[in-house]
Parts: sequence; C-alpha cells; structure tokens
Amino acid sequence: MTEVADQFTEERSGEVTRIAHWIDGQRVEGTSGRSGPVYNPATGEQSGEVDFASAEEVDAAVQAATRAFQGWRTMSLSRRTELFFRIRHLVHEHAEDIARLLTLEHGKVLSDAKGEVARGLEVIEFCCGIPELLKGGYSEQASTGIDVYSIRQPLGVVGGITPFNFPAMVPMWMWAPAIACGNCFVLKPSEKDPSASMLTAELLKEAGLPDGVFNVVHGDKVAVDAVLEHPEIAAVSFVGSTPIARYVYETGTKKGKRVQALGGAKNHMVVLPDADIDMAADAAVSAGYGSAGERCMAVSMLVCVGHAADDLVAAIQERLPKVKVGSGLDPDSEMGPLVTREHRDKVASYIEKGRDEGAKVIADGRETAPDGQGFFLGVSLLDEVTPEMDVYKDEIFGPVLGITRVDTYEEAVRLVNENPYGNGVAIFTRDGGVARQFQFEVNAGMVGVNVPIPVPVAYYSFGGWKSSLFGDLHIYGPEGIQFYTQGKVVTSRWPDPATSKVDLGFPQTR
Ligand code: NAD
Repeated sequence: MTEVADQFTEERSGEVTRIAHWIDGQRVEGTSGRSGPVYNPATGEQSGEVDFASAEEVDAAVQAATRAFQGWRTMSLSRRTELFFRIRHLVHEHAEDIARLLTLEHGKVLSDAKGEVARGLEVIEFCCGIPELLKGGYSEQASTGIDVYSIRQPLGVVGGITPFNFPAMVPMWMWAPAIACGNCFVLKPSEKDPSASMLTAELLKEAGLPDGVFNVVHGDKVAVDAVLEHPEIAAVSFVGSTPIARYVYETGTKKGKRVQALGGAKNHMVVLPDADIDMAADAAVSAGYGSAGERCMAVSMLVCVGHAADDLVAAIQERLPKVKVGSGLDPDSEMGPLVTREHRDKVASYIEKGRDEGAKVIADGRETAPDGQGFFLGVSLLDEVTPEMDVYKDEIFGPVLGITRVDTYEEAVRLVNENPYGNGVAIFTRDGGVARQFQFEVNAGMVGVNVPIPVPVAYYSFGGWKSSLFGDLHIYGPEGIQFYTQGKVVTSRWPDPATSKVDLGFPQTR
C-alpha cells in the first residue's frame, strides 16, 4: 500500500492533510507560502491544504524532467513496454484507492469514480502497445541504392494542465501517451482535487519509472503561467473551460509551443418523434445528472422534435424522484454533491435565472437537495428553454437539464450547428437514414447515435470542434501519439564505394 493510498483508506475527519508537489521522484513541500483549501464536498469540511507552486518550483520540476529525458528516451521500447504493463497492473490493483480519493475530493459517487479510473486505464492499456504505435514507414529502393524511412521521436519535456471534473482520467489521457512516447512530463492538476495525481506519482515510482520522468506541481494561474512561459517545455496539453483553453492556446503557441487545449461544452441530445422514448428518457437522466452534470460530455440540452417533447418530459418526470442524491461513499447514492460551495451556488442560480428568462421549472433541485453542510443540489429540469436564454447559452456544468422544443429535424440540426461549442452531440431515433444524415452534417467532434455520452474508446481520439478545442490534434489514441512526437524522415544510401563520384546536380530519384 502506498503512503497516499494509506492516508485515504480511513475516513479523515477534522484533519487537514498537506498536499505537496512531486518532483524528481519524491514529495517536495512547497516554499512559495501560497496554498489553497481542498474540501470533502459531501460534508463541506476542509480535508486538505494544497501547496501552490511558484515559477521557481515549476522550474525545479522542469529541470528534473530535463535531466531524466536522455535516459528515458533511450530506454528500449521493449523495456518501456514492460514498464507500462507494470503501471497498468498497479493502477488496476489500486483502482479502488484512486476512486476513493476522487469521491472524497471531487464528490462523485464511488461507482462513477471507479468508472473514471477504468476509462483512464484503457488509455494506459493502449500505451502498452507503444512499439506498434511508434512504427514508421520504410520505402526500400526509393532511388537506386537509396532507402527512405520515417521515425517518430519524443518532444522532450511536456506539460499537462487538467480540470477538476476528472482528476485521474484526464491526467491519464496526457501522461500515459506522453511518457510512452519517450517524453518527460510535468502535470499541473486541478487545485480542487489534487490528491489522485500524488497517488498516481507514487504508483509510477513503484512500477519503476525513473525519477524525474513524471512530476506534479500544484497551483493556480501562477503555476499555469510558469508552465506556459517555460522555455524548456516543448508542448502543453490542456483540458478545462473555454476561456482558459483559449488563453492557454494563445499564450503557449506565442511561446513557440505545440498546444492542444480542450475547452467547455454545451452538449445537445436530439430526440426525434420516432425514438424509443423510454430509452431516450433513461439516457437523458443518466447523461444529464451523472456526476452531478460535471462532465464535459454531459447532456445539458434536450432538443425535442415535434411530439417527442411531451412524451419525453413525462418519462423524465417519472424518473427524477427516484434519483438518489447523497454522499458518494454511500453505495445507495447515484448522484453526489458539486465540487465546491461556490460552484453549487452558481449552478443553483441558473434555476432562478431560467425562470426569470421564461423557462418552465419542472423540477427545482434546491428543494430536493439533502440537508447538511455538503455542496448538494438536487436534479433540476427546465422546459421551454429558448436559444436567447443564458440557461441555453452558458455551460452550467451542474445537474440542470434544459429542454428546447422544435418542429423539425432541420431546426434541431441548425441549433446544434449554430452553437459555439462542438464537443459531443447525440441523436435518438429508430431511423438509420436520418441518423446517418445527422452524423454527416452535424458540427461536433463526437457523435452518439442512441448513445448519449459518446466518449471515444482509447484507440480513437477524443476532441471537440469550434470553441471546444483549440489546436489541431485531439487527445489520446492515434492523435495523442502524433501530438507527443515529431516526425523525422531519413534518406539513406550505403553505396558501393566503387560507384561514388562527384555530382553537383540536384538529387534525382529516377
Ligand atoms: P478551469 O478552466 O477553471 O480549470 C482548468 C485548469 O486551468 C485547472 O488546472 C486550473 O487550475 C487552471 N486555471 C483556472 N483558472 C486559470 C487562469 N485564470 N489562468 C490559468 N490557469 C487557470 O476548468 P475546471 O472548472 O477545472 O473544469 C471544468 C471545465 O473543464 C468545464 O468547462 C468542462 O467542460 C471542461 N472540460 C472539458 C473537457 C474536454 O475534454 N473538452 C474535459 C473535462 C472538462
């Protein structure tokens, strides 16, 4: 059992744990004098105090990564693969410990937290095939006696900046392919739920990863800016809200870095009149309220075409009283609290705002939130939402589901395509032809056909369009490998010295 996992096997009550950085294979306490509170959202109590890194502390992590790089990139692919199998084994063995940390700091229910770890683990498993993924091409006899081949090489030191809502999985989307490709990694996780990254660091060390290959620096804008400004960081992956994603992309690219910055979302689920309404209602409730709506792939707007609306509203209404809201550690809970008190209050304010804007409040989560100091909010449903309303335009990122009614399929597609975000989208229908047309013409990066949360499996890549992604490459999968490597093409000749002669002409292939 690792130190961090140990610490969390028992319920912490009243005790505030100091959460330090991880640099060069060890826990390093911060010296900046700045730190931030970490809460247990189910009780409202402060459970941790996380050190915030200064630019100098970020530099110490980058220096450790730089020192480790030569050794790491030269480790053979077979040894790297062996190591990744050990990492896979340890993460799998500690999946429950990681999940428990997620529940204690993020609030999501334990079953959902385990699901998060399982999806992250799939990315690690994909990376166990790194020799195959790094294979280049080879053209023999491209010209007489000349062969040409392509190889992919690591970038060096790369950084990752991650959001609060998937404190284990989103970092795995980044560090696993980055390290597998031969890079060294500096992670700046969310300051709201930083402990999963520390447990990850311990597991990587236990697996045998050389010191300095994986580092964690905690903090806020100061640490993020230090990552973006650091001359020795070659590339940055970011996942978070759209305004910060845009900032990270613009700042990082100005500094000459390769950047992929995934932003926020407003995911629509289109329900056609021929859809299986019970299936659509189950999907809407699961995808709208799962993880308290704090998923970038959560369904936040239902777009109901024609008579689908009345049927669907009735079917959802039937299901809402049965959603069990409570502490994530209670096995009966289906939905936990929100991450912080401020976020809960902000989300709750949209219920009133929706009413003021003319939406019909069918379920008000303020009335059904469990008592106590936890950051709870019950499930909310707003009908008759229109595109001019803030509840339609803003990413609420909480358990507030909106319904927009339209007359035709074309109107539904127009709404989706006019939305500034383009992360996930789903259509519910029994008509294969319409589903195919939808997939063809909809402007979003990930499309579900009768699937409400179409997060791609690990061997495809994840990413949205429009304001949901800044940069060219999606994250993990084949595009992740491309992002964390640079291509090199070698043109090679091993001539018979007897045929060598001076020729000042431009090299010819024929
Ligand atoms: P956030 O943008 O507030 O924070 C993300 C990261 O940026 C954190 O590490 C944070 O410390 C840092 N940060 C915050 N403010 C900053 C600033 N002013 N300057 C520099 N860095 C700053 O996002 P969040 O609230 O942690 O996460 C929720 C958001 O993430 C939602 O918008 C959600 O849609 C999005 N998200 C997107 C995806 C995706 O794949 N597209 C996945 C998960 C979450």
